[in-house]
Amino acid sequence: MTGTERPTRARRATPAARIIALVAATALAGTSLPARAQKGPPIVRDAEIEQLLREYTQPLLKTAGLAQQNVQSVIINDRSFNAFVADGRRIFVNAGALMDSETPNQIIGVLAHETGHIAGGHLARLREQLANATTQSILAMILGVGAMVAAGRSGNSSSGIGQAGAAALAGPTQAIQNSLFSYLRAQEDQADRAGVKFLTATGQSAKGMSETFKRLADQTLYQTRYISPYTQSHPLPSERVAALEGMARQSPYWDHKDPPALQARHDLMRAKLYGFVERPDTVSRRYPPNDNSLAARYARAISTYRFGDPRAAVAQIDALIQAQPQNPYFHELKGQALLEAGRPAEAIAPLRHAAQTAPSPALIQIMLGQALVATRDRARVDEAVSILQTALTREPESSDGYSQLAMAYGQKNDLAHADLASAQAAFMRGDVKTAREIAARAKTRFPVGSPGWVKADDIASYKPPQSAFMRN
Ligand SMILES: [Zn+2]
Repeated sequence: MTGTERPTRARRATPAARIIALVAATALAGTSLPARAQKGPPIVRDAEIEQLLREYTQPLLKTAGLAQQNVQSVIINDRSFNAFVADGRRIFVNAGALMDSETPNQIIGVLAHETGHIAGGHLARLREQLANATTQSILAMILGVGAMVAAGRSGNSSSGIGQAGAAALAGPTQAIQNSLFSYLRAQEDQADRAGVKFLTATGQSAKGMSETFKRLADQTLYQTRYISPYTQSHPLPSERVAALEGMARQSPYWDHKDPPALQARHDLMRAKLYGFVERPDTVSRRYPPNDNSLAARYARAISTYRFGDPRAAVAQIDALIQAQPQNPYFHELKGQALLEAGRPAEAIAPLRHAAQTAPSPALIQIMLGQALVATRDRARVDEAVSILQTALTREPESSDGYSQLAMAYGQKNDLAHADLASAQAAFMRGDVKTAREIAARAKTRFPVGSPGWVKADDIASYKPPQSAFMRN
């Protein structure tokens, strides 16, 4: 997993370790980023969790007629409960929403409701304006980093986005939550109805959706200290909660339980997030030492790896592998722990195994490429180049992948391709100025008109558009 803090001495011990690596999920071409967002948004990238979310969302999207839209789930490293759609292509889910959902069915219910908003064309005008915005700039806006200045200039002062832009300057997050992503009461009812319909059509219960919204509504009623951002954008009056429960109970699947195998994967996902996101004392309260479940051991192993002794962590992970040898993500974790403990040569075998067995291995391949590069072994550099190129075809916006590729080419003394990959890395993390400078140098190293020269020229001559929120 990347995108989470790992505050240990290993950071000093391993210069090659890309420990925090706030990987931009999609730093797309064609948009500019606000300066303060250029380090990338706090997005969690993780093969295991993304795979599970794909399996949660795909049946819903299919039954909603949205299968062709290639909707991606993006996980935000934020402990609060939130999930939202900003355009028709991305469902943002806070780590906190996944951690607070006890069953797959609970979070699937939330995803069904969000799918209802997409299918219903709610906030369509906003969606259209955001269609070309990057994940980074949408997040910058939601997190109140100031991207709204650009939106405010778009001239649509009568539209929601123009008003939100002006409001955002005064008080970013609150204003955005309240005006930009707020649904009308009628839209909430419609999304609830659509959500229940999608769940029923896919043979799933709407009980989890009903439970979750009831819990959030109760929180709003009885707690003043913590109010979920979700309830600010999705108003949850008690009549709505009651109507939803009534509808959900009519489904023939009301009492259906999640399949045990899916529940087990869900438990592992939550444990992983606890391990990566929370401090050790919180992890050991949630997963006390006498809890010998696989999930508890997973959370503790991750916490040990983040905060404790790498040797102890590897021993704990080995025990997980022994319990479930076919789980690719235990091997991945072992490789990550070894890599970040400065033992890249030992990380290669577990990462290779994980990359060969995980269903969508691109992120694991990038880590494997990093391990191969970190050994500085010339015999491994060709494999590194090949595996990174494969990964980048699936993750074409991975700044991290390009950085590792640049190092691999550097080890081969192929300075033209090293420069090109460095320029692509800078471009993908939103540093257009550096990208253009390196691309200009790369151009001088390639024969004029060659494929590398053309790619370098694209970046060197790239001009950022005026606004991230305007269609050109
Ligand atoms: Zn809603």
